[in-house]
Amino acid sequence: MMVVALMLAGCMQGDDRRYDEGVSVELAQWRKETIGDLRYALRFDIPERRDEAVEGEASIGFALKRRQEVVLDFRESAERIHQVRVNGRACDYAFANEHLIVPRRYTRRGENRVEIIFTAGEQSLNRNEEYLYTLLVPDRARTVFPCFEQPNLKAEFTLQLEVPEAWEAVSNTEVETLLVMEGRKLITFKPTEPLSTYLFSFVAGRLQRVEYQDGGRTIAAYHREVDEQKVAQLDVIFEQVASSLRWMEEYTGIPYPFAKYSLIILPGFQYGGMEHTGATLYNDRSMFLSEHPTLDEELARTELIAHETAHMWFGDYVTMDWFDDVWTKEVFANYFAARITETLFPEVNHELNSIKNYTASALSEDRTPGTNAIRQDLDNLRHAGLIYGSIIYNKAPVMMDKLVEIMGEEAFREGIHEYLTTFAYGNATWDDLIAILDAKSEDDLAAFSDVWVNQKGMPHITFTEEEDTLTIVQSDPWERSLVWPQSFDVTFVGNDGERVVEVNLSSERFVTAIPEGSEVILPNTDGRGYGLFVPTEKTMGWLLGHWQETENETTRQSLLMMLYENYKAELIEDSVWMDALMRGLVVERNPLIASTICGYLGGPLREVGTEELEELLWQQAQRHSIASCRLQLMRLLISNAKAPRSLERLYGIWEQQTHPQLSERDYTNMAYELALRMPQRYEQLIGEQRSRIGNPDRIREFDFVCRAVSPDTLTMDSVFVSLLKAENRRVEPWAEKALAYLNHPSREAYAVKYIRPGLEVLQEVQRTGDIFFPKKWANALLKNHRSDEARHEVEAFFDAHPDYPVLLKNKVLQVVN
Ligand SMILES: [Zn+2]
Repeated sequence: MMVVALMLAGCMQGDDRRYDEGVSVELAQWRKETIGDLRYALRFDIPERRDEAVEGEASIGFALKRRQEVVLDFRESAERIHQVRVNGRACDYAFANEHLIVPRRYTRRGENRVEIIFTAGEQSLNRNEEYLYTLLVPDRARTVFPCFEQPNLKAEFTLQLEVPEAWEAVSNTEVETLLVMEGRKLITFKPTEPLSTYLFSFVAGRLQRVEYQDGGRTIAAYHREVDEQKVAQLDVIFEQVASSLRWMEEYTGIPYPFAKYSLIILPGFQYGGMEHTGATLYNDRSMFLSEHPTLDEELARTELIAHETAHMWFGDYVTMDWFDDVWTKEVFANYFAARITETLFPEVNHELNSIKNYTASALSEDRTPGTNAIRQDLDNLRHAGLIYGSIIYNKAPVMMDKLVEIMGEEAFREGIHEYLTTFAYGNATWDDLIAILDAKSEDDLAAFSDVWVNQKGMPHITFTEEEDTLTIVQSDPWERSLVWPQSFDVTFVGNDGERVVEVNLSSERFVTAIPEGSEVILPNTDGRGYGLFVPTEKTMGWLLGHWQETENETTRQSLLMMLYENYKAELIEDSVWMDALMRGLVVERNPLIASTICGYLGGPLREVGTEELEELLWQQAQRHSIASCRLQLMRLLISNAKAPRSLERLYGIWEQQTHPQLSERDYTNMAYELALRMPQRYEQLIGEQRSRIGNPDRIREFDFVCRAVSPDTLTMDSVFVSLLKAENRRVEPWAEKALAYLNHPSREAYAVKYIRPGLEVLQEVQRTGDIFFPKKWANALLKNHRSDEARHEVEAFFDAHPDYPVLLKNKVLQVVN
């Protein structure tokens, strides 16, 4: 074997990016042009003990158009490669910049086989006591085994796993053979359909297996839960998986395109879910709800299940060509998740739910200086994780709704069918899709797509009233003079009733006569509009006192969200905003709007909260007519109450554990929050709460997190220092929680010193962590800091790093106050 620092071989010239670390777009294109008919046969030996290595073998078959050098990806140290044979001969390969390079002389035109014996990299094996799971999206297959890591080289995978006899093992396909010997089990799985590397997955460990029959289909679930109330929820989960599959089959006209459907519910899982074919992973907290779930929690679970199921067609069956288009799979998953959820919750107002979920979340990122376009350039796969965020998950479905509105539902559905059948088991770009849709529409979809998809930001839409004329002007806060074509309703309210006008804002300005007798002009009353809507002064004054009187629920939600955007834009003061929210809270009867209010209360409460205000919230937490609202208000008090009286009350509730709605998780959070505010009771709160937890996975989590709420500053500092090491961030949700408690509002001044080192490690966090973690890390570190000192720390950090990677800097700018 030969290790070289820099390779310049054969046809490769000076600034060739093919040997860059990661997977450059140049390397991917070159491989796509020259490599075909790809097959991986993989074998992993998984020891029972977490600290013993996983040994592996890979046999990679592929066809070459011509004899040439072959560049594989393996993001691990060279020492982990033990042997390489190419076409039956021992190979003197090179290893550099995360690539294993097979010289041209070993290869031939046509069929080739590379056989590698290696020790698997640990980063994406997620090894825990008693179980492990792979999570390889977006470019992490190359951390586990040598491969061609790029979504458009789809391959057949055949997997063999050797595991302890008592363990279960799950992968993308059914088990073909199973051999038991001396306490070990050798499992061979059937070959997969063509899959991108990021969709290959396996899980092994002590897991319970439960089966469900739906027509001729068997769905299996694997989990580690011991609480019976939680396990019983599998019935609902199975039904929703089955309904989602049926809905997608019916809509697309394409039967489920993979061999089987299994789901694995895992504690400490980084995301809500991940759509591996035949082995979809889910986070246990999103799936197993507490005894008294709120409507939001139930809807979120269904949306998650529907989202991952929709991915089987959008993402798995047809996959983006490169990760710059990763949003195309997320937009469809969320767009169809909303439609599937609608059929499963007929009693819910889904127009309202959609703006509450997608629009609000999209605005929350789009209003920040760190926002990005839906489509972003990606020069190297190693930055693919930074492409993800609320813009692709939530702004993209808002855009998609507008696209369907322009095209018409039937033409859209036809286009989708054509797209899926044209690119079945293959790859497609957004432009491929738009070309299909454009042919079915009279409008210029490419132009529409250009501003909504390729440009960042949102319009400011200002209403002004002059005598009997209303002028609506949209402006581009980024000063590019962009116009976002869109339609929305405006309602004129007068003494003699209401008049609704549909505004088609296709240019910068829209002018209309104000109907006689109009008192106020309500913008965006159907919630379809997207941006910061600034009403006329008179209307704003009226809304702050009366928004809650609006009868139509979608309109009420939309107006509430509009006021919130005005508050975030500092056009409304804290105390005025607080009053407006409280006025709405006491009379609200819709659980989704009430939950939106509860979510908004935290901000102004921290700024202008008083004992009297907390008292009012206590009253509502007991007597509000919506049960889930009472629970959400309790949670609001648990994380925000400061008055001594409130704290004593919370402590009493925690001690007695007789609250009708709070769950074990709530009491655990309460113990953390109270320990922070009542440091003299830290020992008792933590000691007793630990003794109440039954599930061993949750005790491990508790032991990890509880040190972060210690009143001892030496302990705090040592927890912080430990989080700077990747090995202590292995279970990301735990690390995130600990970091957030270290930077708790009650510690704002002390914790300023964590900001610089917390930012210094961010690039490392991105390198070693999964997709959503860089932003979650930045958020946990910064969300509670509002001081000038904190702001200076962030500015000083970027001054000291003028060439900081833009995508990562944006993650910070999205969360900084
Ligand atoms: Zn997704």
